[in-house]
Amino acid sequence: MEIRYRLSQLPSVDECLKSSYGGKWLDSFPRKLVLRGIREVIDSRRKEILNGATSDVSIDAISHDIEKTIKKYSAYKLRPLINATGVVIHTNLGRSILSDKAIDHVTKTARSYSNLEYEITTGKRGKRYSNIKDIIKELTGAEDAVVVNNNAAAVLICLDTFAKGKEVIVSRGELVEIGGSFRIPEVMEASGALLREVGTTNKAHLADYENALCGNTALLLKVHQSNYRVIGFTEEVPIEKLMKIGKEYKIPVVADLGSGCMIDLKKYGVHGEPTVQEIVSTGADIVTFSGDKLLGGPQAGIIVGKEKFIQKIQNNPLLRAMRIDKMTLASLEATFMQYLDEEKAIKEIPTLRMLTESADVIKRRAKKILSSLKKDIADHAKLEVIPDESQAGGGSLPEIDFPTFAVSVKPSNISVNELEKRLRLGSPPVIARIKGDALLMDARTVQEGEIKMLANSVIAALS
Ligand SMILES: *Cc1c(COP(=O)(O)O)cnc(C)c1O
Repeated sequence: MEIRYRLSQLPSVDECLKSSYGGKWLDSFPRKLVLRGIREVIDSRRKEILNGATSDVSIDAISHDIEKTIKKYSAYKLRPLINATGVVIHTNLGRSILSDKAIDHVTKTARSYSNLEYEITTGKRGKRYSNIKDIIKELTGAEDAVVVNNNAAAVLICLDTFAKGKEVIVSRGELVEIGGSFRIPEVMEASGALLREVGTTNKAHLADYENALCGNTALLLKVHQSNYRVIGFTEEVPIEKLMKIGKEYKIPVVADLGSGCMIDLKKYGVHGEPTVQEIVSTGADIVTFSGDKLLGGPQAGIIVGKEKFIQKIQNNPLLRAMRIDKMTLASLEATFMQYLDEEKAIKEIPTLRMLTESADVIKRRAKKILSSLKKDIADHAKLEVIPDESQAGGGSLPEIDFPTFAVSVKPSNISVNELEKRLRLGSPPVIARIKGDALLMDARTVQEGEIKMLANSVIAALS
């Protein structure tokens, strides 16, 4: 009897919809999700009553839960978050973040029609790549350029265009696997090209390549050792030397650079990545690189090189299946344009800024994070700014530790694992690293505009 009375107190879906709350929800959220939220909460309250619960189930009492449920279903699954890991090109967290100029160009291009494939001067159909070709040629010094969806696609279309059913010579020291299961031997197999391995893990000589040449050789492929280094007793054949035999036997040489560094970062204290320009100037026939690694732009695969080879790639029907969309084109164009002024590029392209930022600047940001936390959670945790090391990520510069500063948080009431989890599940999520009994938030990858949100998230997680 008691239970039946309580069940009768539960509002119906219709009553919830017609309440003042219902009107508000319908204004702000899709009807489908409002209904789902209402039904879910009513169902769970019914079960609770059947299990003996005696709490108030009036609309006023359950509206808060309903709204929370509707919001949960209405939220985007893809969400911005705060990267406090110190890994700049974090593949799992979206690799490079775009510059303001790139974002602006994307927004404007997405909002209107554009000359994506239209020649304004002639009124005729145009090529989407022509909008970006000139700037890439100017910056890299290459004869020609084309762009596909990512660098994996760039390598694939090169193999498909020149080496289907034929042999491609690669050094055993360069058979890399990049995160996300891009493995040179497997890409090769998928393309229908035959891998001809030469040399050993640590050494390859020019003679190894020469001895492997045969009537069925289609390409010489040089793969940049992106995310690993072979050190000690090593030798590799530089592109210049490969070009010599390539010329002699009329076999194109392809360099898969991976990172796509466009500025000599040695000037900024970052050693270890060749620039695209350097590799192009060796005369390499084709050079491929990513758009969202060291270049700091959108996901894309840029292919530059000799005009006759790029033209052949342009004529491959596969290119249609790998073509970039207008938003990629816009952000890539804007990013490349920024490289016309190197000093500004270093400051304005977030990936480059984060990689070249001085430890002093990072320390100041870490202190700012610390001071925005201190007064609120000094009782709940031990806080300090400590020196640490960040990484480039994205398969770039694996041997370099970038000196950085991090905010170390040692919680007193909960475990450090619990704190890490609460931050990860917070809004916005904060992704940080555990080291010993402390949670480290590396200030290198925290954006200036995120400091307040970050502090609020930490305060909420600790209290
Ligand atoms: C990263 C990388 C790739 C794959 O590039 P995506 O843009 O991630 O597709 C291919 N080759 C090398 C050497 C790389 O470093």
